[in-house]
Amino acid sequence: MIRINENYLKLEASYLFSEIARRVSAFQEENPDREIIKLGIGDVTRPLPPACVSAFHRAVDEMADEALFRGYGPEQGYPFLREKIAAHDFMARGADIQPDEIFVSDGAKCDSANIQEIFSDDISVAIPDPVYPVYLDTNVMAGRTGRATDGRYAGITYLDGTSGNGFIPALPDQPVDLIYLCFPNNPTGATIGREALGGWVDYARQAKALILFDAAYEAFIRDDSLPHSIYEIPGAREVAIELRSFSKTAGFTGTRCAYTVVPRACRAWSADGTGHLLHTLWHRRHTTKFNGVSYPVQRAAEAVYSDAGQMQTRELTDSYLQNAALILKEMTALGFECIGGENAPYIWVKSKNNSWEFFDMLLEKAGVVCTPGAGFGRCGEGYVRFSAFNSFENVQTAMNRVREAVA
Ligand SMILES: *Cc1c(COP(=O)(O)O)cnc(C)c1O
Repeated sequence: MIRINENYLKLEASYLFSEIARRVSAFQEENPDREIIKLGIGDVTRPLPPACVSAFHRAVDEMADEALFRGYGPEQGYPFLREKIAAHDFMARGADIQPDEIFVSDGAKCDSANIQEIFSDDISVAIPDPVYPVYLDTNVMAGRTGRATDGRYAGITYLDGTSGNGFIPALPDQPVDLIYLCFPNNPTGATIGREALGGWVDYARQAKALILFDAAYEAFIRDDSLPHSIYEIPGAREVAIELRSFSKTAGFTGTRCAYTVVPRACRAWSADGTGHLLHTLWHRRHTTKFNGVSYPVQRAAEAVYSDAGQMQTRELTDSYLQNAALILKEMTALGFECIGGENAPYIWVKSKNNSWEFFDMLLEKAGVVCTPGAGFGRCGEGYVRFSAFNSFENVQTAMNRVREAVA
């Protein structure tokens, strides 16, 4: 008899985005004339930068040419891309990361989900709340948790984000082995400074723990005092894996390209106390289970690092940050307590009442869709997330309508 992985039965139905879609379409049906503005989803709206599009086209033409055609590429990514990533994203910022420590993939979502299979089933895991749900659900699937009660799984150490700590969680008060951190943060837009991040690195070094640092929103950082990579922190090479993505940086959500950095200094231990290089394990996993990102997509990603690509991606992220600044300014002026929106495309707004009540009010009175914070964890209750991924005109209209709705 074929049996299922019963850990899947522990998963709480993730009804957040389907429930939003249901409420939006019900509203639209009752009010066919109302034009709805979506500031809910975490997906980009602007097209690929022209430099990426030309590189993409050129590479497709190569694939049609017998002399230039390429079949399987290296599973870890082509050297042309890994070298540019190491030079631009790390060496240029004083972070010692080599091209062979970079593993190119088709997404930071899959990487964040897949990476945990190289760790033991019985490690203890620390996950922020509110959180990007993938970190939590993939550990549930792997059997690292018990059942959920009141929205919290037994066995997980939750790192609470609150207005008191500015949504930068404090170090855990019980020992943990694997720690998920995401800065600039989705959903809160909070950023972390060198000193606080250094505290996490020191903790991990002393506890022989590992940090999974999700820097998918690194390209939105404008404050020069903030670290873009965890490897800007001394000692992090031994205790951190970093996830990056071209999705939000360059509009690749539908094109798919990301990478994971596993430094050769990162170790984890077998039961007999022997240290093992995580680079070796991840290399084995990646080359066994993955056959590489499509060649034209890697050429398109490479173009991000050209002079034109750098200017165009900067302009792209600037435009979303301009939207974020407007949302932050307007919501603050309306008397709402806000986090984020300055070095991140998300604004986390204290809703004065229940997350879903506030969502319904904005939808009905303003025709504006946000995301109820409760969908990101217990600590998200009482907040909503506004996303800056839309046109400036739509954001302006949305904010005018919100102002009238809450007046
Ligand atoms: C969007 C996002 C990513 C990127 O995922 P891809 O699979 O690369 O598109 C990673 N982490 C977080 C927190 C995100 O919001």
